[in-house]
Amino acid sequence: MRAVTWQGTHKISVENVPDPQLLNRRDAIVKITSTAICGSDLHFYDGRMPGFEKGDIVGHEFMGEVIEIGDGVTNLEVGDRVVVPFPISCGACEPCVRGETSLCDNSNPNAYLVEAAYGYSPAALYGYSHLFGGYAGGQAEYARVPFADFGPIKIESNLSDEKVLFLSDILPTGYQAAEQCGIKPGDVIAVWGCGPVGLFAIKSAYLLGAAKVIAFDHVGYRREKARTFGGAIAVDPKDVNVVEFLKEQTGGRGPDACIDAVGMESHATSALAALDEIKQFAKVEQDRPHVLREMIQACGKGGTISLAGVYTGYVDMIPMGTAFGKGLTFKMGQTNVHKYLRPLLERIERGDLDPAAIVTHRCSLEDAPAAYKTFHDHADGCEKVVMTP
Ligand SMILES: [Zn+2]
Ligand SMILES: [Zn+2]
Repeated sequence: MRAVTWQGTHKISVENVPDPQLLNRRDAIVKITSTAICGSDLHFYDGRMPGFEKGDIVGHEFMGEVIEIGDGVTNLEVGDRVVVPFPISCGACEPCVRGETSLCDNSNPNAYLVEAAYGYSPAALYGYSHLFGGYAGGQAEYARVPFADFGPIKIESNLSDEKVLFLSDILPTGYQAAEQCGIKPGDVIAVWGCGPVGLFAIKSAYLLGAAKVIAFDHVGYRREKARTFGGAIAVDPKDVNVVEFLKEQTGGRGPDACIDAVGMESHATSALAALDEIKQFAKVEQDRPHVLREMIQACGKGGTISLAGVYTGYVDMIPMGTAFGKGLTFKMGQTNVHKYLRPLLERIERGDLDPAAIVTHRCSLEDAPAAYKTFHDHADGCEKVVMTP
């Protein structure tokens, strides 16, 4: 089959690779009909994600048709149309039973590698480094789906791929970021980053009762999308003092919650941010936490800091005294996608939101190298790329 592979920093190629096979009774093989490039794919594209090997098949947002099932999969049939969540989760361990499927104890065969750094391993991920299991990803013609009796959601309506594909990651990720804020009617929510996750966080914050959402992004077309798709007040952080601006917008009290939809690759022009860039380049600091620092400073007293953007390692100079003094709550983690599949599919079916509206680029799997570059460079108004094999 054809598959998108990682070959090194800024090197992506489409290769001929062996077709996936059923390995366990609970596996299924899915023939992929649509797959997307995610902001977190840029972490390995930029060479910032450890544990990749040349030839690894990438991608974790995909859907398609079940073409083969193991005899342990009783809830799916050949021919079913499914969306596959990006965390690989067994459905039976303690975290999975609690609904925290991104913390599955059983899916990462390389758990010991992560335990050395984190103490415990979270769930394995498709197409996302040997640290997280080394599973082949979904930017390919076919994928092996482990625990297929628990993970995928069957799509029985005739909604287009583009309307349901993002259930695999970015829609639940934006939704969880907003849900973690414990939004009460009338709340003001600030969102850093207007990429796909930021857009869905903005939309979700309104669906959950926020009165006003204020969003920040350096890129003009992403701010425009935050206004037209999300209904947010969208501002270039270079044009304002972010903390002062948020005070002005909230009668002086600061936002009730702050959402980080940027993560470890934030850009800024402050002296501390420049120091982060130097330390990250010298590999003495892994992540650039500019957004995190700014959120802690800006958040209102007793507020919530909700992290959806990915962090992988150590960060420096976090203003802990500020967070402690203001009694802030921190919520974070990979998305527990499985828990949100059904409720969010129902919202799409009801027309509460149209996820397809964020798609700006469509191409063939064969065009993946160019599509990665366009998405990475914020070129050509690129918000989200969907590829079809
Ligand atoms: Zn993703
Ligand atoms: Zn589990």
